[in-house]
Amino acid sequence: MIELHCHTTFSDGTLSPTRLVESAVMAGVRAMAITDHDTLAGWDEAREAAKDPDLYDRLSQPSFSVSQPIEIVPGLELSTVYNGKSMHILGFYPDRDKLSGPLMERLAGRKRRAQAMLDKLEALGYPVELPPMGPGMAPGRPHIARALREAGYVKDSREAFDRFLGEGMPACVDYEKFYASEGIELILACDGIPVWAHPYLFRGGEVEAVLPKLVEAGLMGIEVFHPSHTEYQQEKLARFCETYGLLMTGGSDYHGPGAGHHSGLNSQNVGMELLEALKGARSALVGG
Ligand code: AMP
Ligand code: ZN
Ligand code: FE
Ligand code: FE
Repeated sequence: MIELHCHTTFSDGTLSPTRLVESAVMAGVRAMAITDHDTLAGWDEAREAAKDPDLYDRLSQPSFSVSQPIEIVPGLELSTVYNGKSMHILGFYPDRDKLSGPLMERLAGRKRRAQAMLDKLEALGYPVELPPMGPGMAPGRPHIARALREAGYVKDSREAFDRFLGEGMPACVDYEKFYASEGIELILACDGIPVWAHPYLFRGGEVEAVLPKLVEAGLMGIEVFHPSHTEYQQEKLARFCETYGLLMTGGSDYHGPGAGHHSGLNSQNVGMELLEALKGARSALVGG
């Protein structure tokens, strides 16, 4: 089984890339995409961990070895805006040299936005600080939610989102304007495969109305399997993929233990054939 949607401490996950790779091996995951929010900074450590011969011995996972390591799929989850609402676009196999420059502006925007949310919280009487963040690290609302919990202002992340950070709540600040079509075009320009992440979490319109616009912009796939989707929604998304000739992806959107998300690794039972299709499309994109 594979995982095509995971976060590390380079964005709002709670596991470092190394710990994430270890957990994935323990869960029997054969291939895993690192899809941090607006950053590629977790790829190298994940690849190093996957190549580490000691890893498999240490974890006593005999079905893995240096000759049969877990496969790391390079990816990201871009934060964009559509109809004034947050929309996440996954990108698989983007060219790092092409994407790194444009991403610096996205990351700087995330940092400005995080500071704006901290300023709002302070004005509301809830001053908190973010943990120190290195250059490639992407701050997000979950970091602020954890800081609020650690300060004792809320009992858990959920309360932090319900009272302060959820869309429309007093300390929430929207992403700086970067439209979904721009995100899709950017990923394509960097030889990556753009995929609409968890469409049924989108709050700015009906999936059937929005999808044709995204396809027009160059969208190549839909994240069909996601813990927030019902079986019925997954079936609908799979039919859309057939209708529009789109790739299907899926993953647990794993953020690590204590992140306030409820799905574990391998929760979506995604098969290797989806990754093969993704790779085929990538080759066609780059070759043709
Ligand atoms: P950001 O990228 O800063 O907008 O934060 C988005 C992330 O916050 C998502 O990927 C989720 O991990 C998390 N999130 C969004 N809404 C909620 C919520 N209502 N409760 C808990 N976590 C949430
Ligand atoms: Zn996240
Ligand atoms: Fe997302
Ligand atoms: Fe995610």
